[in-house]
Amino acid sequence: MDIKVIAFDADDTLWVNEPYFRRTEEAFCELMSGYLSLRDLERELLKIEIANLPLYGYGVKGFVLSMIETAMRVSQKTISIDVIERILELGKAVLDEPIELLDGVEEVLRTLKQQYRLVVATKGDLLDQERKLKKSGLGHYFHHIEIMSEKDEANYQKLLRHLDIQPQELLMVGNSLKSDILPVLSIGGYAVHVPYHITWAHEQIEHTIENERFKSAENILQVLQML
Ligand SMILES: [Mg+2]
Repeated sequence: MDIKVIAFDADDTLWVNEPYFRRTEEAFCELMSGYLSLRDLERELLKIEIANLPLYGYGVKGFVLSMIETAMRVSQKTISIDVIERILELGKAVLDEPIELLDGVEEVLRTLKQQYRLVVATKGDLLDQERKLKKSGLGHYFHHIEIMSEKDEANYQKLLRHLDIQPQELLMVGNSLKSDILPVLSIGGYAVHVPYHITWAHEQIEHTIENERFKSAENILQVLQML
Protein backbone atom coordinates (compact mmCIF):
# COMPACT_ATOMS: atom_id res chain seq x y z
CA MET A 1 0.00 0.00 0.00
CA ASP A 2 1.10 3.52 -0.79
CA ILE A 3 -1.47 5.46 1.21
CA LYS A 4 -1.06 9.24 1.40
CA VAL A 5 -4.46 10.37 2.65
CA ILE A 6 -6.75 8.73 5.19
CA ALA A 7 -10.34 9.92 5.05
CA PHE A 8 -12.70 9.40 7.98
CA ASP A 9 -16.45 9.36 7.93
CA ALA A 10 -17.77 11.43 10.87
CA ASP A 11 -21.18 10.22 12.13
CA ASP A 12 -20.89 6.90 13.99
CA THR A 13 -17.22 6.64 12.98
CA LEU A 14 -15.71 9.54 14.95
CA TRP A 15 -18.70 10.29 17.17
CA VAL A 16 -22.14 9.03 18.21
CA ASN A 17 -24.97 10.04 15.86
CA GLU A 18 -27.48 7.35 14.92
CA PRO A 19 -28.74 6.75 18.50
CA TYR A 20 -29.92 10.40 18.62
CA PHE A 21 -31.93 9.91 15.43
CA ARG A 22 -33.26 6.59 16.70
CA ARG A 23 -34.37 8.15 19.97
CA THR A 24 -36.09 10.99 18.10
CA GLU A 25 -37.84 8.53 15.82
CA GLU A 26 -39.13 6.68 18.89
CA ALA A 27 -40.43 9.93 20.40
CA PHE A 28 -42.10 10.77 17.09
CA CYS A 29 -43.77 7.36 16.88
CA GLU A 30 -44.96 7.73 20.47
CA LEU A 31 -46.41 11.12 19.56
CA MET A 32 -48.28 9.61 16.62
CA SER A 33 -49.20 6.31 18.25
CA GLY A 34 -52.93 7.11 18.09
CA TYR A 35 -52.87 6.87 14.30
CA LEU A 36 -50.84 3.81 13.35
CA SER A 37 -48.91 0.94 14.90
CA LEU A 38 -45.26 1.57 15.76
CA ARG A 39 -44.13 -0.66 12.92
CA ASP A 40 -46.28 1.07 10.32
CA LEU A 41 -45.23 4.51 11.54
CA GLU A 42 -41.56 3.58 11.26
CA ARG A 43 -42.13 2.22 7.78
CA GLU A 44 -44.09 5.30 6.66
CA LEU A 45 -41.45 7.68 8.03
CA LEU A 46 -38.60 5.80 6.36
CA LYS A 47 -40.44 5.77 3.05
CA ILE A 48 -41.00 9.53 3.19
CA GLU A 49 -37.41 10.20 4.32
CA ILE A 50 -35.97 8.23 1.40
CA ALA A 51 -38.32 9.91 -1.08
CA ASN A 52 -37.21 13.30 0.26
CA LEU A 53 -33.45 12.64 0.18
CA PRO A 54 -32.98 13.98 -3.37
CA LEU A 55 -34.82 17.17 -2.33
CA TYR A 56 -33.46 17.86 1.14
CA GLY A 57 -30.27 15.77 1.39
CA TYR A 58 -29.11 14.07 4.59
CA GLY A 59 -29.29 15.52 8.07
CA VAL A 60 -31.57 16.83 10.77
CA LYS A 61 -33.47 19.47 8.78
CA GLY A 62 -34.65 16.99 6.16
CA PHE A 63 -35.51 14.55 8.93
CA VAL A 64 -37.73 17.16 10.64
CA LEU A 65 -39.54 17.98 7.41
CA SER A 66 -40.09 14.27 6.79
CA MET A 67 -41.52 13.79 10.29
CA ILE A 68 -43.95 16.68 9.67
CA GLU A 69 -44.95 15.24 6.30
CA THR A 70 -45.46 11.80 7.88
CA ALA A 71 -47.59 13.32 10.65
CA MET A 72 -49.75 15.11 8.09
CA ARG A 73 -50.14 12.00 5.98
CA VAL A 74 -50.98 9.49 8.71
CA SER A 75 -53.39 11.92 10.41
CA GLN A 76 -54.97 12.75 7.05
CA LYS A 77 -54.07 16.40 7.62
CA THR A 78 -55.81 16.62 10.99
CA ILE A 79 -52.63 16.96 13.06
CA SER A 80 -52.61 19.88 15.51
CA ILE A 81 -50.14 22.74 15.55
CA ASP A 82 -49.05 21.52 19.02
CA VAL A 83 -47.82 18.27 17.48
CA ILE A 84 -45.96 20.16 14.73
CA GLU A 85 -44.36 22.31 17.43
CA ARG A 86 -43.32 19.17 19.33
CA ILE A 87 -41.73 17.73 16.17
CA LEU A 88 -39.76 20.96 15.66
CA GLU A 89 -38.57 20.71 19.27
CA LEU A 90 -37.48 17.11 18.73
CA GLY A 91 -35.39 18.24 15.76
CA LYS A 92 -33.80 21.10 17.67
CA ALA A 93 -32.94 18.72 20.49
CA VAL A 94 -30.94 16.56 18.03
CA LEU A 95 -29.00 19.64 16.90
CA ASP A 96 -28.26 20.40 20.52
CA GLU A 97 -26.93 16.94 21.49
CA PRO A 98 -23.40 16.82 22.90
CA ILE A 99 -20.58 15.34 20.84
CA GLU A 100 -19.56 11.99 22.25
CA LEU A 101 -16.34 10.73 20.67
CA LEU A 102 -16.13 6.99 20.06
CA ASP A 103 -13.47 5.00 21.92
CA GLY A 104 -9.96 5.25 20.50
CA VAL A 105 -10.71 8.03 18.01
CA GLU A 106 -8.27 10.60 19.41
CA GLU A 107 -5.48 8.05 19.73
CA VAL A 108 -5.95 6.94 16.13
CA LEU A 109 -6.00 10.49 14.78
CA ARG A 110 -2.99 11.56 16.85
CA THR A 111 -0.97 8.59 15.67
CA LEU A 112 -1.92 8.69 12.00
CA LYS A 113 -1.48 12.45 11.68
CA GLN A 114 2.28 11.97 12.08
CA GLN A 115 2.47 10.02 8.84
CA TYR A 116 -0.57 10.78 6.72
CA ARG A 117 -2.78 13.65 5.59
CA LEU A 118 -6.10 13.17 7.38
CA VAL A 119 -9.44 14.36 6.04
CA VAL A 120 -13.10 14.13 7.05
CA ALA A 121 -15.56 12.99 4.39
CA THR A 122 -19.12 13.29 5.64
CA LYS A 123 -22.63 14.01 4.48
CA GLY A 124 -25.38 15.83 6.35
CA ASP A 125 -26.36 19.46 6.86
CA LEU A 126 -23.39 21.75 6.24
CA LEU A 127 -24.02 23.96 9.28
CA ASP A 128 -24.71 21.02 11.59
CA GLN A 129 -21.59 19.11 10.52
CA GLU A 130 -19.42 22.22 10.90
CA ARG A 131 -20.85 22.77 14.36
CA LYS A 132 -20.26 19.14 15.37
CA LEU A 133 -16.69 19.22 14.16
CA LYS A 134 -16.07 22.38 16.16
CA LYS A 135 -17.68 20.92 19.28
CA SER A 136 -15.66 17.71 18.87
CA GLY A 137 -12.34 19.52 19.26
CA LEU A 138 -10.93 17.28 16.51
CA GLY A 139 -10.63 19.94 13.81
CA HIS A 140 -6.87 20.41 14.20
CA TYR A 141 -6.15 16.83 13.15
CA PHE A 142 -7.58 17.39 9.69
CA HIS A 143 -6.02 18.82 6.59
CA HIS A 144 -9.39 19.11 4.85
CA ILE A 145 -13.11 18.70 5.59
CA GLU A 146 -15.34 17.50 2.75
CA ILE A 147 -19.09 17.77 3.36
CA MET A 148 -20.75 15.89 0.53
CA SER A 149 -24.39 15.95 -0.53
CA GLU A 150 -24.09 12.26 -1.49
CA LYS A 151 -21.24 9.82 -0.96
CA ASP A 152 -21.07 8.50 -4.48
CA GLU A 153 -18.23 7.70 -6.85
CA ALA A 154 -18.34 11.09 -8.58
CA ASN A 155 -17.98 12.97 -5.29
CA TYR A 156 -15.12 10.74 -4.08
CA GLN A 157 -13.40 11.36 -7.41
CA LYS A 158 -13.85 15.08 -6.88
CA LEU A 159 -12.21 14.66 -3.48
CA LEU A 160 -9.24 12.85 -5.08
CA ARG A 161 -8.80 15.71 -7.55
CA HIS A 162 -8.99 18.27 -4.77
CA LEU A 163 -6.36 16.39 -2.75
CA ASP A 164 -4.29 15.81 -5.91
CA ILE A 165 -3.83 12.08 -5.26
CA GLN A 166 -4.41 8.81 -7.11
CA PRO A 167 -7.22 6.46 -5.99
CA GLN A 168 -4.75 3.91 -4.60
CA GLU A 169 -3.32 6.64 -2.34
CA LEU A 170 -6.64 7.02 -0.49
CA LEU A 171 -7.85 4.96 2.46
CA MET A 172 -11.39 5.59 3.66
CA VAL A 173 -12.50 4.58 7.16
CA GLY A 174 -16.21 4.47 7.97
CA ASN A 175 -19.18 2.65 9.43
CA SER A 176 -21.39 2.55 6.34
CA LEU A 177 -20.64 -0.12 3.73
CA LYS A 178 -22.96 1.63 1.31
CA SER A 179 -21.56 5.16 1.62
CA ASP A 180 -18.02 4.84 2.96
CA ILE A 181 -16.79 1.57 1.50
CA LEU A 182 -18.40 0.50 -1.80
CA PRO A 183 -17.96 3.75 -3.79
CA VAL A 184 -14.32 4.09 -2.62
CA LEU A 185 -13.49 0.52 -3.64
CA SER A 186 -15.14 0.99 -7.00
CA ILE A 187 -12.99 4.04 -7.84
CA GLY A 188 -9.84 2.10 -6.87
CA GLY A 189 -9.22 3.26 -3.29
CA TYR A 190 -8.70 1.30 -0.08
CA ALA A 191 -11.40 1.05 2.59
CA VAL A 192 -11.72 -0.15 6.16
CA HIS A 193 -15.15 -0.81 7.60
CA VAL A 194 -15.54 -0.07 11.30
CA PRO A 195 -19.12 -1.12 12.07
CA TYR A 196 -21.25 0.75 14.57
CA HIS A 197 -23.82 -1.22 16.55
CA ILE A 198 -26.77 0.45 14.84
CA THR A 199 -27.10 1.45 11.20
CA TRP A 200 -29.91 3.41 9.57
CA ALA A 201 -32.03 1.11 7.36
CA HIS A 202 -31.19 3.18 4.26
CA GLU A 203 -27.44 2.57 4.76
CA GLN A 204 -27.71 -1.21 5.07
CA ILE A 205 -26.59 -3.58 2.34
CA GLU A 206 -27.21 -7.30 2.21
CA HIS A 207 -24.24 -8.81 0.37
CA THR A 208 -20.69 -9.38 1.65
CA ILE A 209 -17.77 -7.53 0.08
CA GLU A 210 -14.90 -9.41 -1.55
CA ASN A 211 -12.11 -7.05 -2.53
CA GLU A 212 -8.37 -7.13 -1.86
CA ARG A 213 -8.43 -3.41 -1.01
CA PHE A 214 -11.12 -3.94 1.65
CA LYS A 215 -10.69 -4.80 5.31
CA SER A 216 -13.05 -4.97 8.25
CA ALA A 217 -12.10 -3.85 11.76
CA GLU A 218 -13.85 -4.47 15.04
CA ASN A 219 -13.02 -1.00 16.30
CA ILE A 220 -11.19 2.08 15.09
CA LEU A 221 -7.98 1.27 17.02
CA GLN A 222 -7.47 -1.78 14.80
CA VAL A 223 -6.93 0.54 11.84
CA LEU A 224 -3.50 1.30 13.31
CA GLN A 225 -2.46 -2.33 12.87
CA MET A 226 -3.65 -2.47 9.27
CA LEU A 227 -1.24 0.11 7.88
MG1 LIG B 1 -21.33 7.23 9.37
